[in-house]
Parts: sequence; structure tokens; C-alpha cells
Amino acid sequence: MARYTGAVCRLCRREGQKLFLKGDRCYSDKCGIAKRAYAPGQHGQGRKKLSEYGLQLREKQKAKRFYGVLEGQFEKYFEMATKRKGITGENLLQILESRLDNVIYRLGFGMSRAEARQLVVHGHFQVNGHKVDIPSYLIKEGDVITLKETSRSLPKIKAILEANDGKVIPKWLDLDANTLQGKVVALAQRDDIDLDIKEHLIVELYSK
Ligand code: SF4
Repeated sequence: MARYTGAVCRLCRREGQKLFLKGDRCYSDKCGIAKRAYAPGQHGQGRKKLSEYGLQLREKQKAKRFYGVLEGQFEKYFEMATKRKGITGENLLQILESRLDNVIYRLGFGMSRAEARQLVVHGHFQVNGHKVDIPSYLIKEGDVITLKETSRSLPKIKAILEANDGKVIPKWLDLDANTLQGKVVALAQRDDIDLDIKEHLIVELYSK
């Protein structure tokens, strides 16, 4: 399936909540949800009550959209989650949080996950001293992520760092603002993940 290239605010309106896909704009009164808090399309304002399957499907779509992951990859993550010890839904979220593009976003090196993904693809980061330009790369406990020296003076990156100065970094990550290095203290636990996702509904969907 191809990556969605339409207006991203429609995705938030479809899910009925902010997915924070556009950085700064998401916190302003230009936010699509703030302006039109109903689903897109001709029948958007007259939505019917969702069936149990509909609720499960929407929850999966929402999680995919939060993290910018396509269907096939999401299914692979679910498979991985079932093979880990513990609660499958929580394992799934932990895997999604471990993606390098998400970690870059969480560390404040990108205004949105989409922007973080682009910066990773453009080769601005190293993991444990080696360049990694794969957004889906899964980080591990103890990994050190560094913004490359040569990238720090780029106007775009300087603007991001300035805008994110003081951003709250989740406790499973540690950012050294002087060296611009982030360390993975531990993998994210469910309590660390501030997203409104009912992961048990996703597990129910895939268990049918
Ligand atoms: Fe979603 Fe951000 Fe668009 Fe608001 S501005 S609808 S949060 S992508």
C-alpha cells in the first residue's frame, strides 16, 4: 500500500482527535480539528455509531497514523509483539515507540514524527556512532543517538532545536542538550506513552 500523501489534517478529523502530525500548527488555532471537529467528506457531520469491529478498526488506524506506519509494517510489529513476553498490546506500543523516527521526535529533534522521519532519511543522525538513515530502525536499551556535528548549524535544524528548547523528554530517554546526544535509558513502558490508544482493541481486531 502506498504512503498517504493527502491532507494530513483529514486523518485527525477522521479519527476525531488530534494526532499531532504537523508540528507547531497542531498547537495553534489553525489546527484542522479546532476549525472543523467532524469527520471529512460529505457525510462527515452525520456519522453513525460504530460497530465493535468499527471501533477496533479505527483504533488500529489511529495507532498507524500516530506513528506514520503502513499496514504491512504494522502487521509485522503485531507479530513481533505476540512473540515478546508480557501483554501483547503494550508490547506493540513499545515496539512502535522504539522506531528511530519516533525517538528522534521524542528527543525534540523534529517537530513531528513525519519531520523526524525525513531528517533520519537525510542522514542527520548516528546511533552508537554509526550513521543510520532508516526511520523504522528499532533502538535498544543503552543506544546513544547523536545529531551529527555537520547538521547542527543547518538553519532548519537550528530552528527545530530552538523551538523545542525546554520540551519535556520522556523519562525512558535522556537528552544531553550540550552534546545533543540522546540515550535510551530503558525501553518505553505503557505508562510512559502519552497517546490515547486503546491497544486492547487492536489486539482484539487481529485476534479474530
Ligand atoms: Fe491534526 Fe495537527 Fe492538523 Fe490539528 S494541525 S488536525 S493536530 S495534523
